[in-house]
Amino acid sequence: MNNYKTKIRTVPDYPAQGIMFRDVTTLMSDPGAFSNAIGDLCRPFENMNISKVAGIDARGFILGGAMALKLGAGFLPLRKPGKLPYKTWSEPYELEYGSDALHMHTDGVSEGENVLLVDDLIATGGTAEAGVKLLRRGKADIVAAAFLVDLPEIGGSRRLRELGIDVMSLVTFTGH
Ligand code: AMP
Repeated sequence: MNNYKTKIRTVPDYPAQGIMFRDVTTLMSDPGAFSNAIGDLCRPFENMNISKVAGIDARGFILGGAMALKLGAGFLPLRKPGKLPYKTWSEPYELEYGSDALHMHTDGVSEGENVLLVDDLIATGGTAEAGVKLLRRGKADIVAAAFLVDLPEIGGSRRLRELGIDVMSLVTFTGH
């Protein structure tokens, strides 16, 4: 049994009243927990010929970069507006607290390549769905979406599964 849940700090009312912020920086700062989490997140995909890990800005970059190395894959950043230098596609999304957009370089994926989508946490699934739309615009094959934390009662993982995406996570928290 892992103890990932105890390594994640919960900050109430951040960044807005009523949000229980699940702060994964405390898990990432623990060398053993971080290394085990990367191993556990990668294990289901070790023999699945993943050619790229697509990480969502910004905590998804930390997990996704480490996972890409472990899986022998490349890394693809899905970024907030104004950060990518080349031609991009953009997909807007609603957050638990506000709205935003994700961008991907138009040459970020090739048709039919196996991509694993990664972020630290899935809540409403809006962010991850924007990632799915971007990867599908590039005609990538999305093997799965992997998260450290799922908040299943908010419904994001169900929403992704309804889009035909396999979802895996290491930790779930009830409520918001
Ligand atoms: P969503 O689009 O609602 O699934 O939100 C997921 C994104 O927002 C992820 O990139 C998370 O880092 C962040 N996020 C949303 N809710 C929380 C929360 N309760 N605690 C920590 N991060 C969150």
